[in-house]
Amino acid sequence: MASSAHTRPLSEVEIRVKALESLLVEKGLIDLAAVDALIDKYEHKVGPRNGARVVARAWVDPAYKARLLSHGTEAIAELGYTGMQGEDMVVVENTPEVHNVLVCTLCSCYPWPTLGLPPVWYKSAPYRSRVVIDPRGVLQEFGLQLPESTEVRVWDSTSEVRYMVLPERPPGTEHLSEDELAALVTRDAMIGVTKVSA
Ligand code: FE
Repeated sequence: MASSAHTRPLSEVEIRVKALESLLVEKGLIDLAAVDALIDKYEHKVGPRNGARVVARAWVDPAYKARLLSHGTEAIAELGYTGMQGEDMVVVENTPEVHNVLVCTLCSCYPWPTLGLPPVWYKSAPYRSRVVIDPRGVLQEFGLQLPESTEVRVWDSTSEVRYMVLPERPPGTEHLSEDELAALVTRDAMIGVTKVSA
């Protein structure tokens, strides 16, 4: 079964965690809203901020950018971001000529160490099927209108490889520091459904 390549059965520890969570909720010892808040933190703050620092470094350091594009996993590890779902990273660069966008058509594979947890829409069946069939149409729905001259490439996660987009550095940001640049970079731009704006 092809989809089993992207997922794996829950480990002993994961099964115990799930059982423990159910029990704690049942006994009223934890609040699912608090758990959701924690997940939200990883989905929107911790995760994507790591990827944003990778992008900002690539924007200010051409040698780092070259390493990032040729040996993604190692270059990302230079900044300390390693671990599950990030073992085999390929970074693809957006330019005026080529626009890259990411998907996992089979499930929801996603580069956790750099981008955190995937957004709900990334895991949804409509995004997964439609971005392959009509990437320009999907990008338009995200508010991104690309010129016809721009080639759109869709990268589908495999059992091992996780992709990340290196977005274009927006014009007018020449004076910004690396930290200031990192603050501009959004999760969606690193998935490739939007651009970074200044
Ligand atoms: Fe997957």
